[in-house]
Amino acid sequence: MIVVMNPGAQEKDINKITDKLKQMGYGVHLSTGENRTVIGVIGQRREEAAQAMEAMPEVEQVVFITRPFKLAGREFHPENTVISIGDQVTIGGVDLTVMAGPCAVENEEQLLQAAEAVKAGGAKILRAGAFKPRTSPYSFQGLEQEGLDFLNEVRTKTGLLIVTEVMDQFTVKEVAECADIIQVGARNMQNYYLLRELGKIRKPVLLKRGLSATIEEWLMAAEYILSGGNYEVILCERGIRTFEPYTRNTLDLSAVPLVKQLSHLPIIVDPSHGTGLAALVPAMSKAALAAGADGLMIEVHPNPQEALSDGPQSLTPGQFKDLTNELKGVALSVGKLI
Ligand code: PEP
Ligand code: MN
Repeated sequence: MIVVMNPGAQEKDINKITDKLKQMGYGVHLSTGENRTVIGVIGQRREEAAQAMEAMPEVEQVVFITRPFKLAGREFHPENTVISIGDQVTIGGVDLTVMAGPCAVENEEQLLQAAEAVKAGGAKILRAGAFKPRTSPYSFQGLEQEGLDFLNEVRTKTGLLIVTEVMDQFTVKEVAECADIIQVGARNMQNYYLLRELGKIRKPVLLKRGLSATIEEWLMAAEYILSGGNYEVILCERGIRTFEPYTRNTLDLSAVPLVKQLSHLPIIVDPSHGTGLAALVPAMSKAALAAGADGLMIEVHPNPQEALSDGPQSLTPGQFKDLTNELKGVALSVGKLI
């Protein structure tokens, strides 16, 4: 349930209510809006607790959250969550946030070339995996710690922020030392041990939608992270598996406005994994922006034909620059800044 405080409630009133809830064995999460403070009550629903809250003069009303995702839902947090990283980047507000770069860190030179290309195209965040979840155990698995070291160097050289994937709960600490945003890949969306570990840290998490996850399962995965106390979760639609073989996945753009209705969390779109085909990336990027996405994650490689992973879906530096130019018109028409 959520407890809505009277408009103009003072800090002492809010403390009185949160203390009482804690005495009753509940966890609390405060959300301070422009006019009102709302207290998210975490724990089992109990009628007598709701009645006790309704009887408090400082409380305007008690609302039961009907959806299974409590902290991720808009019922609890009506305003959009805007995540700020440094003083350069916000995600979920008026800016269109572009994250771009190669699928994987392959070597220092490739990473630096990709970073310079995405920076020239206007991106402020470099994506690249050091730990790679591959379908085949015989495929390139990523440079792991060495890859993180290269990412650190490239951040220093270019000033770009870094988003990179973590694959299990045992490497959260080392990835968090490098990443500005920690990526949870589609294959790990329901790795609950990993999600719990990410709830304990204080860094934004980019949570990709699972290959065959429903929107509710995806929001429940976000709930794991939020309920641990990490409120900075960015959702990423990256396509779901359907019967259609021409594209690698089916990019579910209806998820964008739907998630916006259900949740306050920022949502970005990855048209590279969503389609698997570089030729489709520009059109689907524009469509994602028109659908209300807060940002894009796009694979860019200095030489896609030689990429160790996901070359067919990677844009060249020139194609990326053209795309970011083309996005400006769409951004203008939907009130986003790029
Ligand atoms: C990636 O971003 O390179 C990746 C592996 O994506 P996904 O988890 O969406 O397949
Ligand atoms: Mn990839």
